[in-house]
Amino acid sequence: MTNTIMNTYARQDVTFERGDGVYLWDTEGNQYIDALSGIAVCALGHSHPDITKAITEQASQLIHTSNIYRIRSQELLADKLAEISGMDNVFFGNSGAEANEAAIKLARLFGHNKGIQAPEIIVTDKSFHGRTLATLSATGNRAIHAGFEPLVHGFIRVPYNDIETIKQVASRSKNVAAILVEPIQGESGINIPDDNYLNEIRSVCDQNDWLMMLDEIQTGMCRTGQWFSHQHNKITPDVMTLAKSLGNGLPIGACLAHGKAASLFQPGNHGSTYGGNPLACHVASQVITTLENLNTNQHVEKMGEYFLNELNKHLGDYDNVIDIRGSGLMLAIELDRPCTKLVAAGIENGILINVASQNRIRLLPPLIISKTQIDEVISKLVPLISRFLLD
Ligand code: PLP
Repeated sequence: MTNTIMNTYARQDVTFERGDGVYLWDTEGNQYIDALSGIAVCALGHSHPDITKAITEQASQLIHTSNIYRIRSQELLADKLAEISGMDNVFFGNSGAEANEAAIKLARLFGHNKGIQAPEIIVTDKSFHGRTLATLSATGNRAIHAGFEPLVHGFIRVPYNDIETIKQVASRSKNVAAILVEPIQGESGINIPDDNYLNEIRSVCDQNDWLMMLDEIQTGMCRTGQWFSHQHNKITPDVMTLAKSLGNGLPIGACLAHGKAASLFQPGNHGSTYGGNPLACHVASQVITTLENLNTNQHVEKMGEYFLNELNKHLGDYDNVIDIRGSGLMLAIELDRPCTKLVAAGIENGILINVASQNRIRLLPPLIISKTQIDEVISKLVPLISRFLLD
């Protein structure tokens, strides 16, 4: 491996050369089934013909102009996102962290406009919102803060899935402008809150005139069987952030706003050179169209249920398996011990998985995965876990 790349990732020693659907091939020609999709990015799998066509068509016509001009494909994508989400408008960036930066700035503007000098945002323990200074400060993981202090001020941290603590903060703090929360925590190992958690947050935000801001970067774009995970709760947030599957691998991030949050930014408040460029937006529109054409939400609901049942059937009786959980195609198997070794063992056995928080095997397969392919994942994964637990 070269040492000219900064040492920010503990990389596996494998290089992929080609992909097709849920499969990848490495430079030696070995085949892998992908149960991770580049961490919830390639929802339509690898080299989907619709996406390849959209990229080549747009690239041969126009890649970049500037946000100082109108951009047709950006306007079309914003209209489409507004239609499927019920939100009013969109700011485009290039990543999840940038989408959350926009959300944090919206919250601060909202607070300042109400006369709050130092607005605060409630965030949760074990959250992940990105690696820029503001988003890592919002993140509820000490390991991600370490070495980068002083952190950005203005975040109040509360336990996840705990509405009472949020209510206590409401009763004692006059400076809160917003709550930023993931509908399901992804990076810390698929933490699924109580069914009414988001509804309760919505009520507290309404009662206190706070912005409800949802980070749907991992949960969005049909991952849980709805366009956006909060749609299971039949609520509308004031702000929502997206990235990952929105571009199926082409970098794009989006911060959507609704109601009072939609008129906060004025020219000069925020911007991005590449954000909302013709290529990324044209491709993201195609991602939405293809997800729609494939009835992805219904498929994810069916496949998610099948996958979870199969995992329970094969692993549910193991004493060392603490929990098996999932929402749509966002699944985790929690063991009673650290199991990061399973990632390399998976690669040796032709399957790509991830381990979060040391002991949670995280599965985020492409949303196009079929029943037979889920059976293939199970046939590789179950022996891997049982051998590991016997060792
Ligand atoms: N928010 C959530 C919930 C995420 O899962 C991630 C990435 O894993 C991010 C934000 C940051 O996104 P990006 O890596 O594109 O900046």
